[in-house]
Amino acid sequence: MPETFSNLRRGIRSPGECASDPLPAIPSARDPSSRKLRIHLICPRGPLYRHRGGIWKKTMRYAPLTLTTLASLVPPEIAAEVRITDEGVDEIDLERMDADLVGITAITGTAPRAYEIAARLRQRGIPVVLGGVHPTLMPEEAMQHADSTVVGYAEESWPQLLRDFVTGRMAHRYDQSPKLRLDNLPFPRRQLYNTGLVNVAHTIEATRGCIFQCEFCVVPSAWGGKPLQKPVAHVVADIQQMKAKRVIFLDLNLIADVAYAKELFTALVPLKIQWGGLATTTIAWDDELLDLAARSGCRGLLIGFESLNQQSLNEARKAFNMRRDYHEVVRKIRDRRIALMGCFVFGFDHDTLSIFDETVDFVMETHMDLPRYAIAVPFPNTGLYKRLKGQGRITTENWGLYDGQHVVFEPKNMTAAELLENTHRAWKKTYSYLAIGKRLNGSRTQLPIAIPANLGYRFYAYHLDTFYSCDWQLAPNA
Ligand code: SF4
Repeated sequence: MPETFSNLRRGIRSPGECASDPLPAIPSARDPSSRKLRIHLICPRGPLYRHRGGIWKKTMRYAPLTLTTLASLVPPEIAAEVRITDEGVDEIDLERMDADLVGITAITGTAPRAYEIAARLRQRGIPVVLGGVHPTLMPEEAMQHADSTVVGYAEESWPQLLRDFVTGRMAHRYDQSPKLRLDNLPFPRRQLYNTGLVNVAHTIEATRGCIFQCEFCVVPSAWGGKPLQKPVAHVVADIQQMKAKRVIFLDLNLIADVAYAKELFTALVPLKIQWGGLATTTIAWDDELLDLAARSGCRGLLIGFESLNQQSLNEARKAFNMRRDYHEVVRKIRDRRIALMGCFVFGFDHDTLSIFDETVDFVMETHMDLPRYAIAVPFPNTGLYKRLKGQGRITTENWGLYDGQHVVFEPKNMTAAELLENTHRAWKKTYSYLAIGKRLNGSRTQLPIAIPANLGYRFYAYHLDTFYSCDWQLAPNA
């Protein structure tokens, strides 16, 4: 480790120390003009999303934005060399990595791997910052594994952390300001990401958060119910500077604020792009919104139908989903030549064993372009987690199993084994060659994208049993 930064490292607060006070100032040995601050940003792998032996084929991958966004937020006055590694598509050598500061973003399913990486690097004297959804849901836990933790959105706190770091005053915890706005932000530094490893390189984000309070969702627990938005002109400028003709919006609910969504879609029309994104079934209630989405180039929507069972939707606080017939929702979207990825969750308390076949029948009847199934996950600190925890029904807190394909709680009307087996069976039934042919023949929407995507999902469906081994977490030399 170069001496210039070793003094800074000695000033890092140890995990047991108070979170709120800044570190005592230490003399910074760093001469800003002498050498750049080397920052390495990491997205850890999970059991399915991993470079070697992973289940996600290239056709299913898109470029994530977290690391490139964090890279763009390095304050201009700090001369820094930023590297990024997405372990979902790339390898990392933790023994040879040389950095002055490492930032790791973690979701719940990758938290154990994030902590493992942090421990190895900290043993080598490299300070580690943790952030992302899981540290936001479980800050006290994350703080035990890091020199500093960013809680909430990082747009203001990450630059402040870096300024504090270079002056030897990095605190143990940084919280999102309640006044955070998404104005005047730089564009993500996408050029740092090896886009040759993904199918869709041009990803973008216009909004954060959601207005709904679904019991199982991390969004209300982690970020509250007030969506944040980037100015529409900024989003348009970002697309223009990417020179992109196909983009994916990664927003969790692009239509959370309908007025904003209409303004955005209107501004997209002249760009003549094709785009995909996430929305709720409510998009089908508003013909003007849906027409605008189609006119602006929307070619694919991911929508959480979650369940065909009204009681399950009530339980999940997603009753708004059933106010319109799901067949009607699919028809309206299909009429606009928009392909539909419908997501369903199994394991609600009102689900019985009949829910699996009912759901598969529905996706076949409606010729759903790309159905997707998940087992309910009580992510920590969500409403669902608190309820199940209170009922003594959480069976493991091994976060690595909190990935939507493991049962981590006691279901009510079936056994955990039945929930797991039937979910796998639903996947296989939906992605048999015959079923793919029937669905796509009935839909005939966006086939050049739908066919490879279905084949990618078929691989996923037929390898679910074999991809969960313990090898992924602590592979040698990783
Ligand atoms: S609508 Fe979607 S993003 Fe919004 S709270 Fe519900 S599950 Fe989360």
